[in-house]
Amino acid sequence: MTRAYNFSSGPAGLPESVLRQAQDELLEWGGERASVMEVSHRGKAFMAMAAQAEQDLRELMAIPENYKVLFLQGGASQHFAQIPMNLAKPGQAADYVVTGTWSQKAAKEAAFHLEPHVAASSEDDGFRRIPARAQWALREDAAFVHVASNETIHGVEFHEAPEVGAVPLVADMSSNILSRPIDVSKYGLIYAGAQKNIGPSGLVILIVREDLLARSAGRLPRILDYAVHAAEQSLLNTPSTFAWYLSGRVFQWLKAQGGLEEMARRNDRKAAALYAAIDGSGGYYRNQVEVAVRSRMNVPFVLHDAALDAIFLEESRAAGFLALKGHRIVGGMRASIYNAMPEEGVAALIAFMHDFATRHG
Ligand SMILES: *Cc1c(COP(=O)(O)O)cnc(C)c1O
Repeated sequence: MTRAYNFSSGPAGLPESVLRQAQDELLEWGGERASVMEVSHRGKAFMAMAAQAEQDLRELMAIPENYKVLFLQGGASQHFAQIPMNLAKPGQAADYVVTGTWSQKAAKEAAFHLEPHVAASSEDDGFRRIPARAQWALREDAAFVHVASNETIHGVEFHEAPEVGAVPLVADMSSNILSRPIDVSKYGLIYAGAQKNIGPSGLVILIVREDLLARSAGRLPRILDYAVHAAEQSLLNTPSTFAWYLSGRVFQWLKAQGGLEEMARRNDRKAAALYAAIDGSGGYYRNQVEVAVRSRMNVPFVLHDAALDAIFLEESRAAGFLALKGHRIVGGMRASIYNAMPEEGVAALIAFMHDFATRHG
């Protein structure tokens, strides 16, 4: 058996060289004579690894000094609820821009703590676009403005941080963090579950502007309070140690590849090639997202005849392409092409799609 090209949306494929390194280190990590999974998170070796991982991430993303980086648990979904608790006073409102399933879920969870105000939504258009910024009904007294920078299910991506004035911008970057350089200073808080474009599940990374940490003001149980986690360097309780370690290995891999500028070039080429193949198929394959906001990470597409879906999935799997089935909400197919997907994988998929269309025309 050999490893296939994995187009899973998450947990997603990891760089093969990182997995090999983890395999080499699995039984004995560093000089510890034990696995990284078997040592104290408060021991010297783990703390040094954790500090290195943070430093590498800071370098990769050029994170300014006045931002804290947290390595927490609970998935992005838990932070849908926890962010409002930390950033809004009880009863205070926050603005949500709804561009797909994930930002919609974020708004729904927020409603347990505050009044989420949907400032704009593209639901009526089947989440195929991002409402024009001029049409967002933002409020000056909002605690924050929330967006999902990439909608993993609908394949819609913000290619720039929207301007929202003085109100802090909060972004769920679960599925496009580290895919290109961004200006962190445009955001109040960035968060991302690891299992899409970073590492294994079980870890959530938050990048939060220091002044916002004061907003929780001791109102929350310590385990929910970002200010406490920041003060404790994300070691308030036992963290997800293996996921933290493996994510650190991915950061080193990214640096060795040439950092986020190089990842952006590769990701742009992969996405451009796949969309060109879809658009150039004479309607055999179709992607319905407005071209300007198409995702570079998740490419949903439908076949001209849904009766072919099952055959496409069966044949693609046999040919060595995993997890191309689209999310049940949108149907059809989806190719997730995160950092770990090599350009050869996308080229091979395009060749398969072309061949499939010829044979099943
Ligand atoms: C996968 C995903 C989530 C949910 O992540 P969990 O770890 O399952 O909570 C949230 N937002 C986006 C954009 C995602 O892609």
